[in-house]
Amino acid sequence: MALTAGPERQTGKLVIGNIGLLLSGALEAPILDADTIVVEDGRIAAVGKRADCDIGDARVTIDAHGCAVSPGLIDSHVHPVFGDWTPRQGQFGWIDSFLHGGVTTMVSAGEVHLPGRPRDIVGVKALAITAQRAYENFRPGGVKVLGGAPVIEKGMVESDFVELAQAGVRLLGEVGLGSVKAGYEAKEMVAWARKAGIQSTIHTGGPSVPGSGYIDADTVLEADADIIGHINGGHTALPLSQIRCLCEGCSRGIEIVHNGNELAGLMALRYARELGQMERVILGTDSPAGSGVQPLGILRMIALLSSVGDMPAETLFCCATGNTARMRSLDCGLIEPGRAADLVFLDRAQHSAGTDLLDSVRKGDLPGIGMVVIDGIVRCGRSRNTPPAERVPEVVGG
Ligand SMILES: [Zn+2]
Repeated sequence: MALTAGPERQTGKLVIGNIGLLLSGALEAPILDADTIVVEDGRIAAVGKRADCDIGDARVTIDAHGCAVSPGLIDSHVHPVFGDWTPRQGQFGWIDSFLHGGVTTMVSAGEVHLPGRPRDIVGVKALAITAQRAYENFRPGGVKVLGGAPVIEKGMVESDFVELAQAGVRLLGEVGLGSVKAGYEAKEMVAWARKAGIQSTIHTGGPSVPGSGYIDADTVLEADADIIGHINGGHTALPLSQIRCLCEGCSRGIEIVHNGNELAGLMALRYARELGQMERVILGTDSPAGSGVQPLGILRMIALLSSVGDMPAETLFCCATGNTARMRSLDCGLIEPGRAADLVFLDRAQHSAGTDLLDSVRKGDLPGIGMVVIDGIVRCGRSRNTPPAERVPEVVGG
C-alpha cells in the first residue's frame, strides 16, 4: 500500500521503444502506426517509428518487448473520501489497487461516503474545497484523483457556485444524492455551475443504497447535466425505453459503470453506436459501493462491452481514455505530444484463447498489465491484480 504521493513529474527524458501495439485513445484512429514514445518532463514529446524519433540522451529507457501501450485508464465515476481509505467497505489502499488495474486518473462523483457528511451549505462547500485540496496534494500510488465534488442541496444560490469555482472546485457530485431532486431545481443549479466552469453529473435510475434517490429520464433531461451519470443505473436501471430516450434526447455524456445493470449498459452502448455517437460513451466503476471496490473494474467493462457488446476492443479503450479526457477537458487520455505521459503497458493474459491482446479482450478475457507510468514515472511493474501478461516491459537504461 502506497501512502506517499511521490514526485509529481519526472524531470528529464524517457524513451519507450519496441511497442508492439500503440492504442491512441482517439476514436478517429484508435491504433497508431508507431513503436516509440519519447517523454520529456512527464509529457509526451514525440510518437512515431524509432528511426523518426530523437531517442538520444534518455534518462530512462523502457523496452516494451512487443507488448501494447494504452493511455492510462480513466475511471469517470468514483466515490473517494480521504486518502487511500474508503469507509464504504472499510478498505485501505483501494486507489493503489486500481493503479494495478491500469487506472491513472479517477473522477469523483461526490465524497458522499464521508461519515457525518455535512448537508448544510457552508459545510457542503467546505468539504468540497477540502477534498479538492487534499487530493491535489496527495496521489495514492501516483493516481490522479480529481476530488472535491459537492452534492447540491436546496438553498444554494448562484454565488455559491462562483465561490466554489474560484476556490478550485471543478466538478459537481451526482445531482440527486442531496436534497435537490426535482428537474426544475437541478436545472437552475446545473446552469449556474456550468456558467462558473464547474462540470456536472446526475444520478440516473433507482436509489443505489437506502437514502439515495430515484431519478427518471425526464428529470435527467430537464436537469441537463454534462454527464448522464451511470446511465445503466447504480444498480437499478431505468426501463430500456427511457435509456434510449436519454441517448436520443440529448447530446450529453453517456456514462456506463461497472456497478450498474449490465444489460442496460450493453443496450446504452448499442444505442450510442446506432446514433453514430460513440464519442459520448465513457466508463466508470461507481465504486466504492455496496457491490464493493473493483480494481479491475474498468478493464472488466472494456472486456464485457467488447465481447458481449460485439465491438472492437480498441474502441472500448477509447471510451475508457480519450473520450473521457475530451469530455472532461483532462490533459491525459490520448497518446499525442503535449499530453501527460500516463501509460499502461499490457498484453494478452497468459493462456488466453485470444490470438493477441485485442482478440483476447474481444473474447471476454482481461488483459494482463506489465507496467503503469504516470507523468513519466514508473509507478508499478507487473500488476499484482490482473492475470499475468505474456510479455512485460523492462527498464533497460537510466
Ligand atoms: Zn449514483
